[in-house]
Amino acid sequence: MRDDDWTKILGWPGWRVHRTEIHEGTKTLKLWVNRKPSQGRLVCSGCGRQVSEIREVYEREVRDLACFEYQTTVVLELYRVRCPDCGVKAEKVEQLPSKAAFSKRFEEAVGQACESAAARQVARQMGLAASTVRAIDLRYLERWSAGRRQPALRQMGVDEIYLGKKQKFLTVVSNLETVEPLWMGPERKKETLDEFFRTQLRAPQRRGIAAVCVDMWKPYQLSLEEWAPQARLVYDKFHVLQHANAAIDEVRRAEFFRQGGRRRELVKGKRWLLLSRWVNLKSGQKQQLNQLFSLNRRVMKAYLLKESLDRLWNYHYEGAMLRYLQSWIDQLRWQRLKPFEKLARMLLDHLEGILNYCRTKVPLGVVEAVNGNIKALLRRGRGYSNLRYLLLKAQRLAATKTEFITVRKAA
Ligand SMILES: [Zn+2]
Repeated sequence: MRDDDWTKILGWPGWRVHRTEIHEGTKTLKLWVNRKPSQGRLVCSGCGRQVSEIREVYEREVRDLACFEYQTTVVLELYRVRCPDCGVKAEKVEQLPSKAAFSKRFEEAVGQACESAAARQVARQMGLAASTVRAIDLRYLERWSAGRRQPALRQMGVDEIYLGKKQKFLTVVSNLETVEPLWMGPERKKETLDEFFRTQLRAPQRRGIAAVCVDMWKPYQLSLEEWAPQARLVYDKFHVLQHANAAIDEVRRAEFFRQGGRRRELVKGKRWLLLSRWVNLKSGQKQQLNQLFSLNRRVMKAYLLKESLDRLWNYHYEGAMLRYLQSWIDQLRWQRLKPFEKLARMLLDHLEGILNYCRTKVPLGVVEAVNGNIKALLRRGRGYSNLRYLLLKAQRLAATKTEFITVRKAA
């Protein structure tokens, strides 16, 4: 084959192949390229300005897409140029997006593969180390992110994700209108959210926030009052029902320890069923719960309370919402369900934020969806000790909606 043909197959605009080497044994292909005479413009990699003075010629090897079964390497003849602003610098070449030994389209192929498979799998398939694949994926996502425009933040979500005993919590800030995470920070202190406001938003942007969906968590509230006092706090359904789930779990455990023998067996292993919504259960599961309820009235009452609290968000008028909440709380009388009494007190303490749902329309379930996507990413892959990587990954997921559908189905 002639070098001309190799130039066509390689398809790098401005570059031509002048030498090739094929190793059948190792199934490798090596192409040497230099610039076509027509491509005269040299650009400084430091600042992007056009330069003309060449200081040095050198070679650089990068891995490109495979050619059939042959792992392909391209050797480029490059210049080091003298820039009036930056001094002596490498020239900027479109096909070489970073200092790593890979071509742009190779990195793009790896990044795309990482969208639907774990880094470990992609690494095995490409014959690379998993850490290399993650580094490529991160650069791919950074380039994608740099090319996007940032929509205004008018409705904000703040949530925490529990990572485990060691790292504890992660605070996630999201844009409720675009359904994507904007920022992540370790822990869930006031300082954590302060950091977001200080580093990510300018004063006019902070003033532009109209509503915040947030958990009933004091440190977040304090930070919001300081940085975005005009924003309405809305305690959303997802967060309130999380507290209701915690309450029913507490009732379940108390009953489990109170009862002995066969009855104890019946409460055992029903945690997941009790946390599920009735409408999502199959008939066999409903039967199991009914069996449990016939033996334990207290667990049944707790379950009904949890289920009916959900309806609070069906109301669009403050008065009606308040009346429903009052009647819900009235049902607690004489029940001796301590965890639910605690929940009722919490709801009354945060009444304004609950009623704000009627005053400011915020989309329900967005915080939950963003949170679910991040958890799915964390479950699937290791190596998210880099929060920036996790954030970009979750943003890409939200933007492409690839995984979103399957995650929702599984949940
Ligand atoms: Zn320069």
